[in-house]
Order: sequence, then C-alpha cells, then structure tokens
Amino acid sequence: AKKSEQDNVYFYSSELTENTIKRWSVENQLRESLENNDFILLYQPKVCSKTHSIVGVEALIRWPRGNETPIYPSEFIPIAEETGLIIALGKWVIEQAIEQLSLWKDSVCQELSIAVNVSSRQLYSEGFTEFVIGALEKFNIPACKLEMEITEEHLAPTNQEKTIKETLQTLTDIGIKISIDDFGTGYSSLSQLKILPISVLKIDKSFIDNIPDNKQNVAIIKSIISLAKNLNLKVVAEGVETIEQLICLREYDCEIIQGYYFSKPVSDCEIKELLISNSLS
Ligand code: C2E
Ligand code: CA
Ligand code: CA
Ligand code: CA
Repeated sequence: AKKSEQDNVYFYSSELTENTIKRWSVENQLRESLENNDFILLYQPKVCSKTHSIVGVEALIRWPRGNETPIYPSEFIPIAEETGLIIALGKWVIEQAIEQLSLWKDSVCQELSIAVNVSSRQLYSEGFTEFVIGALEKFNIPACKLEMEITEEHLAPTNQEKTIKETLQTLTDIGIKISIDDFGTGYSSLSQLKILPISVLKIDKSFIDNIPDNKQNVAIIKSIISLAKNLNLKVVAEGVETIEQLICLREYDCEIIQGYYFSKPVSDCEIKELLISNSLS
C-alpha cells in the first residue's frame, strides 16, 4: 500500500509540473500570436425560431496553428484571462468584429448585430468603454449593432461590483446590448438581473441537450423564457442541434436559436453567403 501511495504522489506532482510547463508554453505562444496577428474570428448565426432568418451572429475566436495540435478557446481563454493577455486579445476581437460589420454593411441586412464574448477582466480594464467607443467611431458603426456576451460567473458580485455596474451602464447608455451568457449555470443571476442593465438571456446548452425527455430541463427552460418575457428581455437558446429541440423551443416561445442545427461557426466568407441568401433550413 505504501509503495502505490508513493507512486500516486510521484505521478501527481509530475503531472502538475507538466501542466505548469504546458500553461507557460501556451502563454508564450499566445503572446507571440498576438504580436503576429495570428487569430481569426468565426461567426455563428442566431436565427429567428419562427422565420428561420438570421438576426445576428456571434463571433468566436480561433487560433490557427498550422500543423500544430489545435488549442481551443475553452483551453486558451482561461490562460489569457489569468495572465491578463485577454485584454489585448479582447481588444483585437472587438475591433475585428466591428470591422467585419463595416465590411458587410452594403451587402447584408442592415439590422444585423454582432455579438462578442467579453470577460470581466476586460470590463474592469482601464479605458475599456473609451476603446469600444473609439472602435465603433473608427468604422462608423452604430453602437446598437454591438452586443456583449458575459457569463454569469463574470457578472458575479465582487468588491469591485460598482465598477462593473457602472461600465455596463455606460455601454448600455451608448446603445450596446448586454447578454448574460450560459444563463442558469452560475449562482447569483437573479439578484444580478435586478441590478445590472441586461437585454438578453442566453440559455446554456446543458439545459437544451436532452429536451424534451428531461422534464427538469424543460421546466427550467420554460421558467427562464417566462422570466425573460416578464422582465422584457430577449431569450436565446444555445447549442440547438436537432429538429426536436427546435420544435420544443418554438413551442415554448423561445425567440432566437443558435446551434449546429442551423450552422456551426463558419468563416467570414461562408457567413456572408448565408447572410446574403438569408435562408436556413
Ligand atoms: P460560448 O460563448 O458559450 O460559445 C458557445 C460554444 O459552443 C462555442 O464553442 C461554439 O462553437 C459551441 N457551439 C455552438 N453551437 C453548438 C452546438 O449546437 N453544439 C455544440 N456541441 N457546440 C456548439 P467555442 O467556439 O469553442 O468557444 C468556447 C467558449 O470560449 C465560448 O463559449 C466562450 O466562452 C469562449 N470564447 C470564444 N471566443 C471568445 C472570445 O473571443 N473572447 C472570449 N472572452 N471568450 C471567447
Ligand atoms: Ca457566448
Ligand atoms: Ca454560451
Ligand atoms: Ca458555454
């Protein structure tokens, strides 16, 4: 017993070291890729559940690394957040998304909005709202076309709460829409809903996965939709993959659908094609 215990300890600590080295290496590569502008954005449509027309897109970052093993945002975004690199990376995302809107201006629907994911580290960063206003002005895009998706976790109250509330208020005052991403998976959402200027709730994929079989999830989804309606918020279901899920969500009166059923996140060229024809089956 003693020996295997020791083995475990040994195994555990070598794994720790391996993780530390890997994180450090990812951090350095992130820095380098930021300097070289090596990131791209993909776009996933948000679709009206009734008409199937595209009402917006979400920008999702990708890190193309040639022949090297892919690293997904779920892995590198937390590292970027911890190291503070998210501030520069996030600025790139915002500016790139706004520029993309300006490039689509003449060819696609004027109502189209673009959503970017924003972490609390960015919201707290010095000069964030000024940067966003500057980027909108640079590309001559009205603020109402920009949406920011923030997870509940990032909206959780901290001792800096006032700053986040003030920042969101400033962003909302100029016309930017704020969504709560992964809604229902955090803990303090209801009180935050009362305090913060929110326009959209995005129901987390984990609630969508096994409807209509999972009655608890059905009950949760219906409650979120009615909560949103009563508070005058829009509601988006994310991670919708099947026609059965779509039919349920339409029946529950969920306005907007996002997920592989309609489209995976695609390149700027591919989304432009979809936007021009604007018909999804
Ligand atoms: P998220 O904001 O909740 O984005 C939804 C994730 O689910 C995306 O993964 C998307 O590709 C994926 N997805 C969409 N529809 C479906 C579906 O029907 N089925 C399945 N299985 N997956 C679906 P992705 O692009 O890997 O991003 C993961 C997370 O990384 C995002 O979760 C977001 O929190 C973060 N992220 C991505 N881009 C950015 C960014 O530019 N900035 C920041 N701060 N975070 C980002
Ligand atoms: Ca999101
Ligand atoms: Ca989400
Ligand atoms: Ca998610």
